[in-house]
Amino acid sequence: MPCMTGYIEIYCSSCKKTLGRYNTKFYNDDKIRDLLKTTHSVHVRDGHTVDMMRTD
Ligand SMILES: [Zn+2]
Repeated sequence: MPCMTGYIEIYCSSCKKTLGRYNTKFYNDDKIRDLLKTTHSVHVRDGHTVDMMRTD
């Protein structure tokens, strides 16, 4: 498995905005899922379409 460096961008298609951009060095998928349940929970709770995208 290749070492992935870069960023994970959390994007809400419903709000059409980027909620956050996180360095994959410090945030793995589990931590990102935690953020969705805490920091960005309002979007998830309202049923928004929230995508996670890997960027360089
Ligand atoms: Zn939203």
